[in-house]
Amino acid sequence: MNIAENLKGLQQSIPEWVTLVAVSKFKPIEDLQIAYDAGQRIFGESKIQEMTQKEALMPKDVQWHFIGHVQRNKVKYMAPYVSLIHGVDSLKLLEEINKQALKHNRIIDCLLQIHIAQEESKFGFDPQEIFNLLENPTFDKLQNIRIKGIMGMATFTEDKKQIASEFQSLKSVFDVLKNKQHPLLNVEILSMGMSDDYPIAIECGSTMIRVGSKIFGSR
Ligand SMILES: *Cc1c(COP(=O)(O)O)cnc(C)c1O
Repeated sequence: MNIAENLKGLQQSIPEWVTLVAVSKFKPIEDLQIAYDAGQRIFGESKIQEMTQKEALMPKDVQWHFIGHVQRNKVKYMAPYVSLIHGVDSLKLLEEINKQALKHNRIIDCLLQIHIAQEESKFGFDPQEIFNLLENPTFDKLQNIRIKGIMGMATFTEDKKQIASEFQSLKSVFDVLKNKQHPLLNVEILSMGMSDDYPIAIECGSTMIRVGSKIFGSR
């Protein structure tokens, strides 16, 4: 297992317009430092407490992406520094992020998580709910958040056709959202693709992939 080589190989194999988030959840700080020294600056974590501990230890130019399920009562811990929150799945959560962002006098970038996989357990909005959200007067008032795009996960399956069709659904929601005019929208990120399915995701139009085990080894 060579983290620096894994990273380099991955970077060389993806198009330049695709941003790589190195998913370092559950990995020790030494592993993150190796990736950092190899040039990686964007790291993804799925537990707020773990991310906050790592943020204190890593160089300040790291961009921290929160990719896990967001508990509302913990938003305050990442609000001072988080660079992008991928898993936003309710208006209530957006209101809390807005409130905490305001306290720190900043605007926090968010992705709306969309539920497309067949599995019941995955969090996220249904596509239609997103469009309802944009019409909601409460949403309009959230001046300290910015919606940068959407995030989604495909069903955990070997069936590549199914994975591709789910990613295509995400891409079509992304395209519609990109053409919406709204002061809180600045849509340019389509976050989809993980270690096992990122090549399919890129073929389907992903602009940001979240890769963990293929860089850092299995967890
Ligand atoms: C863990 C995780 C990843 C990375 O998974 P790998 O299969 O290790 O690449 C990507 N996205 C989310 C939301 C995750 O929780």
